[in-house]
Amino acid sequence: MSANKTPEQINRRKFLKVAGAASAAAGSIGIGIWSVESGKDPMTYTGEESYQGAAQYFNRKRFAVDVPPYEKVGPTRRVDARTEVIFSRIGRLGQEWDDEKRLDGLSDDLKAYYQENPETLKLDLEYHREIIPKWRRDREKYHDQYVLSQAWNNAMGSVWPPGNTEPPEIADFPWSAPGQLAHQYKMKSPEKTAELIKHMAHQFGSTLVGITRLNPDWVYKHTMRNRGIDVNKPLDIPEHWEYAIVVGTPMAWDPFYANPTYGSSRESYAKTRIASYRLAEFIKSLGYAARPHTPAGDYDLMVIPIAIDAGLGEQGRHGVLVTPELGSNIRPAVVTTNIPMKTDKPISFSVEEFCRTCKICADQCPTGAISTEDKEEIRGYRRWQINISKCHNFWYSNLGNVGCRLCLTSCPYSRKSNWLHRGALKVSANDPIGLSHGIMTDLQQRFYPAPDVEEYFMPSMGGSNASYRKPPRWLEADEYIDFSGGVQ
Ligand code: SF4
Ligand code: SF4
Repeated sequence: MSANKTPEQINRRKFLKVAGAASAAAGSIGIGIWSVESGKDPMTYTGEESYQGAAQYFNRKRFAVDVPPYEKVGPTRRVDARTEVIFSRIGRLGQEWDDEKRLDGLSDDLKAYYQENPETLKLDLEYHREIIPKWRRDREKYHDQYVLSQAWNNAMGSVWPPGNTEPPEIADFPWSAPGQLAHQYKMKSPEKTAELIKHMAHQFGSTLVGITRLNPDWVYKHTMRNRGIDVNKPLDIPEHWEYAIVVGTPMAWDPFYANPTYGSSRESYAKTRIASYRLAEFIKSLGYAARPHTPAGDYDLMVIPIAIDAGLGEQGRHGVLVTPELGSNIRPAVVTTNIPMKTDKPISFSVEEFCRTCKICADQCPTGAISTEDKEEIRGYRRWQINISKCHNFWYSNLGNVGCRLCLTSCPYSRKSNWLHRGALKVSANDPIGLSHGIMTDLQQRFYPAPDVEEYFMPSMGGSNASYRKPPRWLEADEYIDFSGGVQ
């Protein structure tokens, strides 16, 4: 004991020492517990959110509805993909059109389609005669600016499972030997199977997943290309296409934000395609039938209404899916199967009401393909419909990666999922009468101003090939490539 200190002083010091040590220990333990606990938080960023399913955070049960948020208003009919899907129709027109014979030179189905839709014929011919030659000339001139975005796009699309070219009765089933089906495992319950399938879909890289029974109205009457299915014979829907699992992944954020010139659909197409092929293989390994219907173009059905039935989101004014988590920044695929599963309900989270006041996508669309009017009747359903030929013609009226995606980029639902936008989503989803929607649309336009629509066109068409936002630095070719010597 020191001579000049009282016992009280010593006890006090001891107390402070012990207390300090205790509080340091408690602090450390607290930080430790907090770290461990926050490490368990599914929203903690680890880069594995898709694989763990945490990116699908929206509580769909609260917004579940018995009837999907589109309306059946008349007799329905299935899509003839040979003519009604532009990718099939426009290629065929290029091969078959003869200026002398005109409509008489076309196959019967194509001729009948254009007789019914003369405006579409004009736009599709304009694509072949004017838009593509102009695009080729401009591309020669301005290509260097987009060399990195195209290299990135090519790289992202380079891993790409090949499409099915065998008929469903062969390709969809697991065979242990020729003519011999593999063993089929008995599942415990449709609920447990749905849980497992969803977990696996996330494991296979899908950000969102939903399950529905397949509505035959959404299956093409004639398919658009050879998938082992004769395109000229009406498609009999195979019995084993009983359920539809919808998977989807987002496009990389920064290039997406710099649409139409720097964005790409292909990288997300590849991710979704891989996830759906993996999922189909997983199901087949349990002895059940499964077939992926995937981007780009290997679909035998209409994906958006199926995604709506499966509760992934609603259709927006721009014609495509709006999901709570990713807005319209999603590229979906479908796996049809016969493994019994509990299905999801569609959801209604006020997108229809929001779209009535918003119209930002229609204002931003460079070609006026998106209507500012109300929904219309299409094949017996009341829905939003865009002018696909006008849209498609614009894809080749700008440079960079083919496509546009401006309506997806500029949609207020397609914002980064930070606290602000999650809060705004909660407000709008819980406001079915739309009191907040006008204010939110106004805020969106103030905080996310966009170029004039004419600016999106190529210089030869009077624009400056503008993007909605600046490209990410890593796609700016000037930053990395020395063009001073010209092309070697
Ligand atoms: S992709 Fe572009 S051209 Fe097509 S509808 Fe959307 S904004 Fe219009
Ligand atoms: S931009 Fe507006 S109107 Fe268009 S789909 Fe999105 S919310 Fe609807």
